[in-house]
Amino acid sequence: MSHEAINDLARRIRPEFPLLAQEVAGQGVVFLDNASTTPKPRSVISAVTAYYEQCSANVHRGVHKLGAESTRRYDEARLEIASLVGARPDELVMVRGTTEAINLVAHGLDLGKDDEVVFPASEHHANWIPWRLHGKPVPMAIDCDGVPQWDTLKSLITPRTKLVAIGHVSNVTGAIAPVEEVVAVAHEAGIPVLLDAAQSLSHLPVDVKKLGVDFLAGSSHKAFGPSGVGFLYSTRDWLARFPLYQVGGGMVSLNEDIGVGGFTPRDAPFKFEAGTPAIEATIGFGAAVRWMRAIGMDHVRQHDVAMAKYLVDGLSDIPGVRVLAAKLPPERRIALATFVVDAPSMTQENVARALCDMFGVCVSGGFHCTHVLHARAKLAGTVRASPHVFNTTEDVDRLLEGVREIAG
Ligand code: PLP
Repeated sequence: MSHEAINDLARRIRPEFPLLAQEVAGQGVVFLDNASTTPKPRSVISAVTAYYEQCSANVHRGVHKLGAESTRRYDEARLEIASLVGARPDELVMVRGTTEAINLVAHGLDLGKDDEVVFPASEHHANWIPWRLHGKPVPMAIDCDGVPQWDTLKSLITPRTKLVAIGHVSNVTGAIAPVEEVVAVAHEAGIPVLLDAAQSLSHLPVDVKKLGVDFLAGSSHKAFGPSGVGFLYSTRDWLARFPLYQVGGGMVSLNEDIGVGGFTPRDAPFKFEAGTPAIEATIGFGAAVRWMRAIGMDHVRQHDVAMAKYLVDGLSDIPGVRVLAAKLPPERRIALATFVVDAPSMTQENVARALCDMFGVCVSGGFHCTHVLHARAKLAGTVRASPHVFNTTEDVDRLLEGVREIAG
């Protein structure tokens, strides 16, 4: 995609985001922190407020008209989210987000302390810490830029391996994992694969059946939807085998009195969905999926590839700036760059703060929930810029101008 095409697409989309009309540091905000969470388009905001205004009632319970309408909108959203990833609605457990989805798998596999889980050392804490509590962590080596050494996977698999858990896209390097190869190696050894799609869901076409993964975890808020909701995809087979997770209302078909009988859980996915769900957030998530599909995930990806090149090349050209995994071609990454600015007496958090305070550019600064990656790469923090489909090359130019000034 040419620069004009990137900008045409972005300019067409931008007016849909009320957040982007704001001023920061006396100029229009440049939002480059989408890897943390994305802004929400008006259609998502409207879907949430319409629920409040038109049918604010509980789902799967009410016999009245408003309850029926909220249930219809909620179930439709679930269908929409499932079809985005090529799954059936009964293969999705609605949870709070990627973190809870991974914890649900960790709990469901019922791992003993010698049961090994293989995952790259560069993973987000959401796909690291659960393996410290459940089973035994076997982190895969990474290079000095935090890119996993995928060719070591086979050597890490032992008779005790119970799961291979990988991020689809690294939240630090933006690198896309070789999912099909990982699945082939793991499945050959009879081991299931969990894919953390937190960073890929809004950037790449994701199809669970094509990828062949056993578990997929995702969050709404990184894909233009509200926070507080996400999903775990798995096959009916796996979900049927998982033990109960949280219990309470909504997940039982019958609870008999003490001395009379026990309780009867509903089938998956409902047996994992105790309590009132995040109704309005789920409806908003459904609207976000419709919004992304209307743009077309292929268009999003084309914008991403062109933007990745523009961003990484621009930052790499600035003296005193080191971009992680700068040599990784744009086709193998999303539009995300993590970098270190050599600015005496400034931490990388300070650099990120200065970019906002002086230039109106919002980026992340710190460790991005990847302490081990930073420790192994000997980095005392980094700055991360993560554009998305509504960003123009001029947005990146403002970032480059700020970084140039700070590095200078
Ligand atoms: N995995 C990755 C790669 C992430 O980037 C994040 C969030 O930054 C998560 C998992 C956790 O997502 P959530 O906080 O929505 O549960």
